[in-house]
Amino acid sequence: MNRLEERILRDGVVKEGNVLKVGGFLNHVIDVDLMDWMGQEFKRRFEGLQVDKILTIESSGIAIATMAGHYFHVPVLYAKKNPRIVTMDDDKYVADAFSFTHKVTNHVIVTKTYLNPGEKILVIDDFLANGAALTALSSIIEQAGAELVGVGIAVEKGMQGAGDRFRANGMRIESLALIDEMDAETNTIKFR
Ligand code: 5GP
Repeated sequence: MNRLEERILRDGVVKEGNVLKVGGFLNHVIDVDLMDWMGQEFKRRFEGLQVDKILTIESSGIAIATMAGHYFHVPVLYAKKNPRIVTMDDDKYVADAFSFTHKVTNHVIVTKTYLNPGEKILVIDDFLANGAALTALSSIIEQAGAELVGVGIAVEKGMQGAGDRFRANGMRIESLALIDEMDAETNTIKFR
């Protein structure tokens, strides 16, 4: 078992509706040593892959992506999220994503000048659940004419199926903790 899996078992809380609370170390309190390990671990798992930029989505992805950026020595770009109608500026890429945790549709927005054609992009995010956030980020990468070369996820909830669907389509996804089962009543979690 790796460090993130151990921490999830120790401090993660399983809620009804397939939600895992990790506020004590990942997305409310930030355990910097754990983030640092995650950054190094992504670097190790994607060793040899050419990455020009890391793309994530606000807000929980930013800390993890920043640590990864530190080890890859590349800039970290984060997409902004806005649930309200945005004016479709010509200078922005926009894609929609339904939020699994907040049950609203967000516009995911990146300013065009920060994402360039031909750039090799590694996507990093905290969770992969139904895949809406990842679908929106890949759409933005495609709109920019950039290339998605890999995806690094802290916690993948495998039982929601999105990760396996993306892998079957050839996407390279590395998840540091891949959960196959969790039970809110007993607070038990099973990793793949
Ligand atoms: P997806 O778009 O893949 O359905 O969900 C991804 C986003 O939803 C993540 O960026 C994360 O913010 C949030 N999310 C999904 N499932 C969970 C969960 O079980 N716990 C927490 N804390 N966030 C989640």
